[in-house]
Amino acid sequence: MKNEINPFENAQRQLDIAAEILKLDPGMHAFLREPMRELHVSLPVRMDDGTVKVFKGFRVQYNDARGPCKGGIRFHPEETIDTVRALAAWMTWKCALLDLPLGGGKGGVVCEPKKMSKGELERLSRAYIRQVGRILGPEMDIPAPDVYTDAQIMAWMMDEFSAMQGHNVPGVITGKPLCLGGSCGRSDATARGGMYVIREAAKVLGIDLKGKTAAIQGYGNAGQFAHKLGQELLGLKVVAVSDSRGGIYCEAGLDPEKVMEHKATTGSVMDFPGCTNITNEELLTLDVRVLIPAALENQITEKNASQIRAKILAELANGPTTTDADGILYKNGVFVLPDFLCNAGGVTVSYFEQVQNAYNYYWPIEEVYEKLDKKMTAAFHAMYEMAQAYGVNNRVAAYLVAVSRVAEAVRMRGWV
Ligand code: NAD
Repeated sequence: MKNEINPFENAQRQLDIAAEILKLDPGMHAFLREPMRELHVSLPVRMDDGTVKVFKGFRVQYNDARGPCKGGIRFHPEETIDTVRALAAWMTWKCALLDLPLGGGKGGVVCEPKKMSKGELERLSRAYIRQVGRILGPEMDIPAPDVYTDAQIMAWMMDEFSAMQGHNVPGVITGKPLCLGGSCGRSDATARGGMYVIREAAKVLGIDLKGKTAAIQGYGNAGQFAHKLGQELLGLKVVAVSDSRGGIYCEAGLDPEKVMEHKATTGSVMDFPGCTNITNEELLTLDVRVLIPAALENQITEKNASQIRAKILAELANGPTTTDADGILYKNGVFVLPDFLCNAGGVTVSYFEQVQNAYNYYWPIEEVYEKLDKKMTAAFHAMYEMAQAYGVNNRVAAYLVAVSRVAEAVRMRGWV
């Protein structure tokens, strides 16, 4: 535990690099290094056995210069204020990179949701909103689901907030069920957004993706949709996929529907008929055109980065590549689509959900796809142009775009 990097210090170091390149004013740099606002709460909840348990909760509003804060709420036993601060900072940069009129925030409750009953989870969700609701609202801060929180939890939270206001306020939270003002296209938005930026990367690299090979690490929400949409939208031939137990390889390509069915019945992608079982380490170093990490953080490190043979590395997962690996990939000409660009489709459709709630008018799915494509494409090109202009890797370039946009808003408001 002692040697673990503090995630917030990590987020601050990433900002420091951007600040130095941008020659940011020292006062501005100091302001952007810290959250603007934090609320720490104690939540007494009546448990099913009649006792009262007190949970600790947080909401961090990192920066709202560009608009109301946006960011998920996590229910996790190892939640800490520093994790929430780091995630709130990353949301600030992600929303700015996508040019959404939003700031960044994040929330969390220290709890073990897997050991709680549905009733206990509902009482905890409502207790959180009763305490934190005073700093939430469509014009202030709009949470969303994150680790171990889902559409049902968002529905309870929205209902509690609406009860506090005395009228329906669907725009206070996103990731709601469709029947309560959720948006079409939210379920596959992360993977779909990733496909749009892979398409743009291929264009600038002069690669025709049709029939080209791809490998996907992780076969959950992000990985499964990436398989399906990679084939459908880009014509990619996905030759390898994996989950926590291991992976499979098939030179002829894998049918997404059949692999999903196999995983649903056996619990894993392993032992899929006609395929060779491979390890997760082997999958990462396959000779494929596109590699999509869609599982965990720290998968591509200084140990295996030099063996990555893919031309495009599309980070659907959060933090799959370490800083040391980044330098090696850049030197070797691997084109990295950094996580806070590649997986930003989710927050973008969350923003669309909020806009539709404000209108009380809902878009057909084609309109969501079209608007998502425009946002992702514009963000890709903003990053790419910055990378060319400063001669830096894509991740640093994405920070430069995001930090300069937030700094400009802070400056124009006259805060610094
Ligand atoms: P998920 O829980 O649905 O799926 C995770 C998958 O990873 C599972 O198939 C699991 O078996 C696999 N996995 C776990 N450990 C593994 C290992 N050691 N090697 C290979 N595979 C392993 O999660 P998800 O929603 O698909 O999220 C995946 C990643 O994408 C996370 O980093 C998440 O933060 C990021 N992400 C997801 C979304 C989203 O909308 N789902 C949005 C932004 C970012």
